[in-house]
Amino acid sequence: STGFNVMHTPSLNKGLEFTAEEREANNLRGLVPSAIWSPELHLQHAMAQLRSKATPIEKYIFMQSMQDRNEQLYYRMLAAHTHELMPIVYTPTVGQACTDFSHIYRQTPRGVYISINDLGHVREILDNWPEQDIRAIVFTDGERILGLGDLGINGMGIPIGKLALYTACAGVHPKYCLPVTLDVGTNTQSILDDPFYMGLRQRRDRTEAYDQLVDEFMTEAKAKYGPQVLLQFEDFGNTNAFRLLHKYQPTHCTFNDDIQGTASVVLGGLFAAEQITQKSLSEHKFVFMGAGEAGTGIADLIAMAITKEDPEKSIEDARKQIYLVDSKGLVIAERKEGLQHHKLNYAHDVPAASTLIETIERVQPSVLIGVCTIAKTFNQQVCELMASINERPVIFALSNPTSKAECTAEEAYTWTKGKCVFASGSPFDPVTLGDEVFVPGQGNNAYVFPGIGLGVVAGGLTRVDDTIMLVAARTLADHVTDDDLKTGSVYPPLSKIRDVSLKIAAAVAEYGFEQGYATIEKPESWTELCQAAMYSP
Ligand code: NAP
Ligand code: MN
Repeated sequence: STGFNVMHTPSLNKGLEFTAEEREANNLRGLVPSAIWSPELHLQHAMAQLRSKATPIEKYIFMQSMQDRNEQLYYRMLAAHTHELMPIVYTPTVGQACTDFSHIYRQTPRGVYISINDLGHVREILDNWPEQDIRAIVFTDGERILGLGDLGINGMGIPIGKLALYTACAGVHPKYCLPVTLDVGTNTQSILDDPFYMGLRQRRDRTEAYDQLVDEFMTEAKAKYGPQVLLQFEDFGNTNAFRLLHKYQPTHCTFNDDIQGTASVVLGGLFAAEQITQKSLSEHKFVFMGAGEAGTGIADLIAMAITKEDPEKSIEDARKQIYLVDSKGLVIAERKEGLQHHKLNYAHDVPAASTLIETIERVQPSVLIGVCTIAKTFNQQVCELMASINERPVIFALSNPTSKAECTAEEAYTWTKGKCVFASGSPFDPVTLGDEVFVPGQGNNAYVFPGIGLGVVAGGLTRVDDTIMLVAARTLADHVTDDDLKTGSVYPPLSKIRDVSLKIAAAVAEYGFEQGYATIEKPESWTELCQAAMYSP
């Protein structure tokens, strides 16, 4: 029966790739058809099966069951066909997978669920997971899944997908990764009414018990796995996200990808765009549509980067170049009372503006960033106005999934007559205008968080500070080629992501070492250290 168990262990199963010797040694004879396949043929077979699925969600389910059956092949598929498969295992399809999570759920355990009723039992749950040496945890409470809102435990698709990218894009070993969902209820009525919903059927716990659960989880994870275990916050609502990040940043190895990872990838794109706009960061004026985790996270990192670029400038002066618009209009000093803490630094002493157009007319921005989760807010009038103010306006429509994007790539290029530097959160196909082809870059967090994760794991870092996000952004921008820029993309193609991740990891580990965060000796080469740590399917 050993062979049977081997084939039921996703990290060991090789299916038809088992050699004759392996079949003999592991009692596999007869459990597999007699053909012995090469890894290439097996990959082709799996891709053909995948492509025969009619819809993205069926492809998602196929990929999940592949991950549960044959881990090596799953990661080989992702590594070899990143451009094709990223939209399946990540945004936009992962959004639908989360919406349908309880319906498409299969029995395989993948990550742990810790509910508010498990207070006092978190350690027991962690001990139930078979791997004891965990290095990277992505965890959510499901309150703000992509731009889809509160999905409760259905949000588990996100930690699962993100960790798959830690492995696929940066080679963090899958056995070191643990997806976690904290189940504190959901406020979405349709989910509470769904007979197949698998989480706690209650409204979100907003009492101290919530903080106790998060604290028990943070404490137990660090105690069990060590101070270098990476604890990545993912898709928390913004009332908890900022507060919890600031609480745990000084004591844990932690970051919030929605706030900090987003900031890093967007700043990377802005650095790369300098070559097209011929403007340095400190010469830009920025308008953000949306002042939540992504908006203020990006704004904070831009302000920090401006002060590094121009040491004459104070952080206050840098912030004055940045304007935020939220659901109530332009964020201004007059609104300070009752304004959420994360917006306060940008509440400038200027008159009110109720519309985006009014804001743009007043501020005359060179960069417009959409992170408001409201589709179509960058309409024709907005894009034309940006193009009339700027030779090369920068327009990033980052809301996810695709249905929430502030505008499409085609709209942005058409309405600005091909002048804008465009990037989006979810992928768009190339756009042809006349005889020009524009390849929109995807400001995908997957360019940075896997590399940061690998750097943290390889260097055994015990902290992730804000400057690490700047280091990652700079390294990312350094890997955008002239050819990428010529087609209009301020990001490298996804096919190069493992390479870019390795460089980011090396830079992050080295920086962390210099800051005294590392728990390893100084290696001869940071790149070689990280490369040696990479899992290769
Ligand atoms: P969030 O914290 O909930 O913030 C959303 C912000 O949008 C809030 O400031 C909200 O205003 C504002 N907003 C809502 N309706 C608006 C309206 N009609 N006009 C102007 N602003 C409005 O969410 P988040 O974490 O920042 O994420 C926002 C979006 O960005 C999501 O779609 C997410 O998927 C996307 N995102 C993309 C990337 C990426 O592509 N790399 C990374 C991260 C996030 P109030 O503050 O007044 O409520
Ligand atoms: Mn997220």
